[in-house]
Order: sequence, then structure tokens, then C-alpha cells
Amino acid sequence: MLKEIKRKVLECAVKAEEMGLCQHRSGNFSIRDEDTGLICITPTGMDRSEMTYHDIVVVNMNAEVVEAETMHRPTSEVTMHLKIYQARPDVNAVVHTHSKFALTFAILNKPIPAIVTELMHLGCKEGYIPVAPYGRPATPALAESVIKPLQISDVALMEKHGAVAVDKDIKEALTKAAYVEELAEIYYNTLTILGPGKEPDYVDKEELQKWAYPKEIKLLPGEDK
Ligand SMILES: [Zn+2]
Repeated sequence: MLKEIKRKVLECAVKAEEMGLCQHRSGNFSIRDEDTGLICITPTGMDRSEMTYHDIVVVNMNAEVVEAETMHRPTSEVTMHLKIYQARPDVNAVVHTHSKFALTFAILNKPIPAIVTELMHLGCKEGYIPVAPYGRPATPALAESVIKPLQISDVALMEKHGAVAVDKDIKEALTKAAYVEELAEIYYNTLTILGPGKEPDYVDKEELQKWAYPKEIKLLPGEDK
């Protein structure tokens, strides 16, 4: 069941690893099927190089496995994905990574400010990438910890753990996760150059909200969607 969605989940998981966003079996990925409300999610403890779409597990919102073609268990962080889908009916994809620069700031419990204007594409309503407080992996506390940050942003760092990104579409969620890592690296670089205790200037949140597609560009009819 849900073969095409399983393929998309697998494709995203493989790509995330290729992009260096998660290694050593870390990270997990899911899509919610809009028609059935079922979730297709990556299995636990499996090398992505060996994974096929048959290994993607289908669960329902009660964390009950509905289908596991190859009898693999879903990721132990499945409850976090379910909590997110419950809290954010507007999203249908969750990407969770352990990328290095993002994790560095997650360990420091340090939100990433708007050092560049691209932050506006990450749904950061308060003008920064928030940090979800620590929750032990695979526990309800972890699942609960990301809910508040994801009310003010489509991306969040997870204290002592990693990062999470959400979107309607899994490709977009992956792009957001990649962008978080890039921003974290740029922020790290600026802090390193500035030296201890100094911060770069930030773009304020009002400025971030002002971005719009340039009205000077004349589009074809129907192209303005
Ligand atoms: Zn994790």
C-alpha cells in the first residue's frame, strides 16, 4: 500500500544522507498520506544503502503499525512525527536530521538568529530558529518538546540531539533541513571570526516579513500562483 509515498520517503532519506545531513543510521523521515491519514516512515536501525521502499513502515496516528512488508519496526522516534502531524495539520512531511553544525548549536541550546534574509523561507515567525528543550530520545518528552518551537517556525533545533523540519512536501522539508545546516555553518563562521562574546547584526523580524515577489516582473497569465 502507498507505494509512491514510500518511494518518496526512501528517496528523501537516501538524499539526506548523501547531502551529509545524517549518517550512521541517524535521522528519520515521514510523509502523511492526505487521503488515508496514514504515515509512511523510515524503519529503525537500518542502513539507508540497503533500504528499499518495501522497508518503509506504515503506521496510523495511534502509533499502530498498519503495514511492515519486510517486518522492520518503525523508527523509535515515530511518536515525535505523530505529535507533529497532530499539532500541525498544515504539514504532511517531517524530516529529522543530526547534521553537525545544527547539532553544535543544539548542544549549546543557542537559537540561530536571522543572520541572512533567507530565514523568511523557513517559516520563522519570530525571526530565529528556535531550540526545542531536551527530551530523552524515543520518549513522549522528546515528542512534546518540539511542538512549541514548531508553532513559531517550520524548523527547529533539538537540544543535545539534532534538527527537525516540516512542510507540506517532503522535498521542501529536506531543503529546509539543508538550509538550517547551511545557516548554522555560516553563523558558526561569523562567530569564529568575531571572537568570544560577540554577535553579528541580525535582520529584524519585521524586515523578514516584508519580502514579496518583485512586482516589477511581469508574469504570464496564470503564472502568478
Ligand atoms: Zn534523532
